[in-house]
Amino acid sequence: MNRAIFLDRDGVVNFDVRYCHEPEKIKLKPGFPEGLQAMHKAGFLAVVVTNQGGVALGMYEADAVHACHRKLQELLVPYGEKIDGFYFCPHHQKVQADCSCRKPKPGMFFRAARELDIDITRSYMVGDRISDLEAGKNAGCVQGFLVDSFYYDTHAPKAVAAGFETASTVFDVVKKVLEREG
Ligand SMILES: [Mg+2]
Ligand SMILES: [Zn+2]
Repeated sequence: MNRAIFLDRDGVVNFDVRYCHEPEKIKLKPGFPEGLQAMHKAGFLAVVVTNQGGVALGMYEADAVHACHRKLQELLVPYGEKIDGFYFCPHHQKVQADCSCRKPKPGMFFRAARELDIDITRSYMVGDRISDLEAGKNAGCVQGFLVDSFYYDTHAPKAVAAGFETASTVFDVVKKVLEREG
């Protein structure tokens, strides 16, 4: 079975510009391409799990989400890299009853595990909000890492208190994962 590093998208892979749905606004965060190279070298799949409630709210269509994901893959070509899977939750509790995939629910992780043959109990989660890390924990990941972003100052103390770890970038996360595994 495969192992994965699950990644929240906005604020982790690319900069968070609220409800990002325009490919031209997608910019990779520093340390992400290098982190991707390092995790692949270490044998992990890179799987994006992202809440896209803007779809349910009527702000943009699912096609716009796919276009943003194609843009991410394009931006990774110069690094000789690609993301192995994209999963998104198009729902929002404001317009419908609870779904099973919106983080902190673990539905996207379970679907990815089935489709990509991933052992979640040997996988990790990276997010920029504590709800991302809770989703990883609810799915059964080994550990969750909070990376530096807009939310860091408010979310880092809560994350640490809940037993999660912090890191500056995705590259830093991979270093910490490899250190912990010796
Ligand atoms: Mg985020
Ligand atoms: Zn959902």
